[in-house]
Order: sequence, then structure tokens, then C-alpha cells
Amino acid sequence: MSTLSVVIPCFNEEASLPSTLERVINAANTAKESMGDYEIILIDDGSTDLTWGLIKGACLNNPSVRGIRLSRNFGHQVALSAGLQSATGERIFIIDADLQDPPELLPKMMQALDEGADVAYGRRVSRDGEGFFKLVTAFGFYRFINWLSDIEIPRDTGDFRLVNRKVIDAVNSMPERHRFLRGMFAWVGFKQVPVDYDRAERFAGESKYPLKAMLRFAITAITSFSVRPLRLAMLMAACFALASFLGILYVVIGHLLGGTAQGWTSLMVVVLFIASLQFLLLGIIGEYIGRMFTEQKGRPLFICSENCGSEVIRQ
Ligand code: UDP
Ligand code: MG
Repeated sequence: MSTLSVVIPCFNEEASLPSTLERVINAANTAKESMGDYEIILIDDGSTDLTWGLIKGACLNNPSVRGIRLSRNFGHQVALSAGLQSATGERIFIIDADLQDPPELLPKMMQALDEGADVAYGRRVSRDGEGFFKLVTAFGFYRFINWLSDIEIPRDTGDFRLVNRKVIDAVNSMPERHRFLRGMFAWVGFKQVPVDYDRAERFAGESKYPLKAMLRFAITAITSFSVRPLRLAMLMAACFALASFLGILYVVIGHLLGGTAQGWTSLMVVVLFIASLQFLLLGIIGEYIGRMFTEQKGRPLFICSENCGSEVIRQ
């Protein structure tokens, strides 16, 4: 049984994969002295380019490499979960295929675990080559989610991390379908320490998180870790109670003083405002109900269509 597992989700990464593998293998070799053997698990998340071919080639060339091919594109977090479920190592190193996070940070993370941490997560001190829009949305996102959720999710932290077996077993035991892994890692607790690094530009190819995917990801993060949006209705009810009290006073006094025929504008403003707020709240409730619906179906998280490499993959 190998003692270090490296898990890399790949979606149309033919351009980065060869360099990524080379650098990851180098990093894993440096850890070999203390950890012994390693395995590298590449998850092909329904790529339409040459990614799976490259993975199969890597499996043939290097007995430490294993590949899992999902039957379609399930998304980054699910692909990652598939890799985490099949990892057998005592320590698991999670890294993206695009080299935005340096594999060379592995020794530093190893050291943190040697010193007693259970999780060493990469914390971005700077982000190169990411547009203003991504920077602002990322900045806002991490602060917003922490304001909403009951547990503290480390800021400016992605999925890039080294974790030990205890933590992976805990995360693997969480059955939810809507997965926000960095939140789930925070939720399980244990001793977690940051390791700072500079986030590089994507090595090649394009971000696989367009705006739509980012929004979906943000909604999953919020609805998986907080019911606070549902409480918004109560807060609004309280505000409206106060406003209606003042409104009633105004109307009644106006009536007593006579001459209150005007008011079409104010009436429309109030009606439209309240109607749109009600739709907003319905939408929020609907979002939670929709998520309950997909959770309770209890479908498997992913379907695996092919494997390559030494070991038969556990599902
Ligand atoms: N990825 C994946 N499935 C997807 C989208 C992305 O497996 O549906 C992988 C992708 O190949 C990369 C990692 O997840 O290794 C992170 O994606 P990306 O770099 O596009 O995200 P960003 O860094 O822009 O947030
Ligand atoms: Mg990236």
C-alpha cells in the first residue's frame, strides 16, 4: 500500500497535463524518502480532448499512475471526490491539473503534517494572471460565505492541500451530492494550518469555471453551509411591520385631515416592491427545496466508465 496519494482532477487539460505530471512526479519523489511509495490518481472528468489518452499513456509508463475516467463531465468537486474515494495513501495531496498551484509546495506541507497538523492548506497570498473580475468576485465570495455560514471557511483557499487519512475518511463519509469540498474540510475540524504561496497563472488552456459555473458553485457553497438566507424572510417581516405601522399612521391621519385622493404612484411603488421581495424569498426557498430534492434521490455521486493503472478502483 502506498503512503502518499496525489489526486488531480482533469477536464480538457491536454495542454497542461504532461508538464503537470512531470512536476508532480518530481515533487512526489522528494517526499519518497520519508513517505515511501506514492500513487498519482488522475481523474478524467469527461474530457473531449486527448486527456484520457495522455492518462492511459502515463499509466503505461509509470506504475505509480492510475487513471479514472468518469462517464461524463460531473464537475470539478465531484471529480475530486471520486479521486479522494479511491485514494489509498496515508496522506493525500490535492492539486489542480493547470499548475496554478505549485507541486513544489509539497515538502513544506509534509513538514506541517510531520509537526502534528492534520491538514495543510495552501493560502493564496497573490494571484497572477487572473483578471480584475475574478479577483473581485473571489475576494467578495470568501468574505460573503464566511459571513453567512456557521463555520469558518479559510479565506483565499482553494482545494490545494495535503491532508491525512483521518480527515479524508471523515470527508468521504459525508454523503451529500452538492459538494463544496473546501467547506467540508473546514467542517470536519482537526488541526488545520495554512501554507502561504503565490498563485501562478494557468499553465495552458482556459479556466473551466466560466461565470455560470462560478455562480452555481457559490450557491452550492451558501446553501450547503448556511440556512441564513431562509431567515431573511423573518428579518424582512420585522422591517415591514415597522414600515407598515408608519404607513398606516400616515394614511389614517391623512384621511382624518381629509383630501387623500392622490397616491397612485406611492401605491404602485409599494405593491411592486413587496411583490418582487416576495418572489425573491420564494426563489430562495425554491433553491433549498430543489437541493433537498436532488439530495434525497440518493443517486451515486459519479459514474466511472474506465480505469487504468495498477489497482482496481473502489467505488
Ligand atoms: N475541472 C474538472 N471538471 C470541471 C472543471 C474543472 O475536473 O468540470 C478541473 C480542471 O481540469 C482543473 C481544476 O478542476 O484541474 C480546476 O479548474 P480550473 O483551473 O479551470 O478552475 P480555476 O482555477 O479557474 O478556478
Ligand atoms: Mg485553475
